[in-house]
Amino acid sequence: MKFTLNNKEYVVPEGLTVLDAARHCGVYIPSLCYHAKTGQAGKCRACVVEIEGMRGLQTSCTVQLKEGMKVVSDSERVRASQRLVIDLLLSSGSHDCLSCEQNGDCELQQAAYYLGIEHPTFRIDQEFKIDDSSEFIYKDNGKCISCGRCVAGCNKTVVNEVLDFGFRGGETEIIIDDDLAMGESSCVQCGECVQLCPTGALTDKKARGKGRFWDLEKIDTTCPYCGVGCQTTLHIDRAKNRIVRVTGREVTPNNGMLCVKGRYAYEFPSSENRLKYPLIKKNGHHVRVSWEEALDYTADRIRDIVGKHGPDTFSAFGSGRITNENNYAIQKFVRAVVGTNNVDHCART
Ligand code: SF4
Ligand code: SF4
Ligand code: SF4
Repeated sequence: MKFTLNNKEYVVPEGLTVLDAARHCGVYIPSLCYHAKTGQAGKCRACVVEIEGMRGLQTSCTVQLKEGMKVVSDSERVRASQRLVIDLLLSSGSHDCLSCEQNGDCELQQAAYYLGIEHPTFRIDQEFKIDDSSEFIYKDNGKCISCGRCVAGCNKTVVNEVLDFGFRGGETEIIIDDDLAMGESSCVQCGECVQLCPTGALTDKKARGKGRFWDLEKIDTTCPYCGVGCQTTLHIDRAKNRIVRVTGREVTPNNGMLCVKGRYAYEFPSSENRLKYPLIKKNGHHVRVSWEEALDYTADRIRDIVGKHGPDTFSAFGSGRITNENNYAIQKFVRAVVGTNNVDHCART
């Protein structure tokens, strides 16, 4: 499908909105309330553009692209409107980018930079609540722009139905259950809302102060916890060789979602208590031994138990954290060598 953007012709696939088409062509249009996963909202009006033949400015996230459409996203009229939206959002919150956890990875900051807003024009003095009660999520209402992405994510994507808009007008804020503290609420700490939040209003508490976004190395990998194989990005402090944050990748099978283990239980690779070599309990204490001794000992014990009590006294559990080949070898060993069907796997449902 052909269309014109800022006097340049582009060809894009059918079925896109004007905003998605612009992104497809590598043209930035500020947007805040829209996220591919939570869908069109048309609330924040940061993404307005001019479209030939349409009256007034249009929200590019809600208009379906049509053949031959002529769109302008960089005129002074468009920028002035976008600037006012971003200026008001910055003015009505508490946005101290220098010390904000989200500095460098914030969609509001990116929009302000694009539009050349150095200082908010309007200053609205207001007190904002900080909710530090959750173990994993830090909620700073001063940085919330009421875009609703967290609400849509919690209610429609992960279907936990914890978040909503509460109160009215200038008092509007994101509430948890019936306005409970997050740590006392029914939130299951999946972190989906954090991942969807375009600003520093919801951040991963464990990662706060552990490294700036641009200093952390990003490595894409597969979650090691279960057989679902969620795709993740590890954010790594290379100087300390430590994972400081995990985010979900927007690809199958998880489309950005993670469970509480996958998102927040990432310390084990650098744990001091991690098992690094085989141990055998001798005289009440675990003692380091060679792999040969450990394997001989294990084989002797299996032979001894199965010989005395029969094969059904033995069972083995495979794991989603090892390869299919290893899991195959485990069941083969249990069935063909030990002689029992007592074998299971953590990913079996
Ligand atoms: S949320 Fe964004 S705009 Fe607000 S202080 Fe943080 S980085 Fe700056
Ligand atoms: S962490 Fe998950 S359950 Fe809790 S509020 Fe956010 S999206 Fe909802
Ligand atoms: S907490 Fe974040 S995602 Fe939720 S409404 Fe505020 S800015 Fe949007």
